[in-house]
Amino acid sequence: MAPISITAAAIIPAAGSGRRMGLSTPKQFQEVAGVPLLVHTVNAFQAVPAVQEIILVVPPDHIDFVRDLLIRYRLLRVSAVVPGGARRQDSVKAGLLAVSAEIEVVIVHDGARPLVSPGLISVCIAAAHEHGAAMVAVPVKDTLKAVTNEGWVERTVDRTGMWQAQTPQAVRAALLREAFRFADETGFSGTDEASLLEHLGHPVRVVSGAETNIKVTRPDDLQMVRALLGPKENDDLMNFRIGIGFDAHRLVPERTLILGGVKIPHALGLLGHSDADVLVHSLCDALLGALGEGDIGRHFPDQDPGYKDICSLVLLEQVVSLVQGKGFRLVNADITVIAERPKLSPYFPSMQENLARICKTERERINLKATTTEAMGFEGRQEGISAQAVVLLAGK
Ligand code: MG
Repeated sequence: MAPISITAAAIIPAAGSGRRMGLSTPKQFQEVAGVPLLVHTVNAFQAVPAVQEIILVVPPDHIDFVRDLLIRYRLLRVSAVVPGGARRQDSVKAGLLAVSAEIEVVIVHDGARPLVSPGLISVCIAAAHEHGAAMVAVPVKDTLKAVTNEGWVERTVDRTGMWQAQTPQAVRAALLREAFRFADETGFSGTDEASLLEHLGHPVRVVSGAETNIKVTRPDDLQMVRALLGPKENDDLMNFRIGIGFDAHRLVPERTLILGGVKIPHALGLLGHSDADVLVHSLCDALLGALGEGDIGRHFPDQDPGYKDICSLVLLEQVVSLVQGKGFRLVNADITVIAERPKLSPYFPSMQENLARICKTERERINLKATTTEAMGFEGRQEGISAQAVVLLAGK
């Protein structure tokens, strides 16, 4: 791993137009798992502490589009967005101009290689720091054939010692500037940074890459990246459920006020078949709603004598069993109680403890709030108390 003391800048050329893939949106902006390819790539670099600045080189007509992406996806380490040139070499050169003077190592990576790992980036930076220049490559696995323009096999090429070049490729900053200067002076054109170093006569250290570090060039590649990132999409994004709950009960004399399973000293209490814990009822309804299981009335009918004066925490326990039985767990709940009186916040810690225990989660995942309605409406006239709850469930 690259020590944090090394200062590195990443240049990510992403200036392709996508014409090769026949796409209206350039490939680096195609969405995979709900996020543009380029954002996956930048996130890998943001995870490496040594990378202090990231320079994106993009099509000149996409600068504003990319600036919006930076805000939307919190790409805070990106220090510059610059317009690309005709060749990759021109784009990287434009990016190099935006690298700060104190940076020691510059690492260049294709914007369309979104599966690069932070570990590989780190190893490449460390190798460049030690040897001057380093590049990621993988040994050629398949038999290589030289093929004529007409589509005939000419001969088999000996693949011994043959490696396929990938990115990232990293070079000490001063050395990379020198390589670009020399390429310009001699009119040399190279398809990657390592070839500029070879042209300069400087050795390049090879770092073993990963087969999954593919470059999206053809539509097939996009399918492959989707498949590799896909399970994450299903696990993390698609298996969330949200639910909303609302309940209200009438305030009457000679009833105990119970909210969140806590007895609260007050002249009035809530009227209901059960203990009328409006807060717990709204939470139950939100959980049932998220599961697509109707509402509390369907599961615990008012007419059933078994539920008369029952502690609503018992109902919540049964709802939570249903949540677990269906393979979900509570991510968080946010509950608001609407009551003119009494002041409820002193009882929140005990309520949170009750709810968190039954929901089998941490207290901070159960947020409680109380508000008055400034004397307006039935809550304001102290005829009743209502509660609203929102929950998020995640599939296991
Ligand atoms: Mg109720």
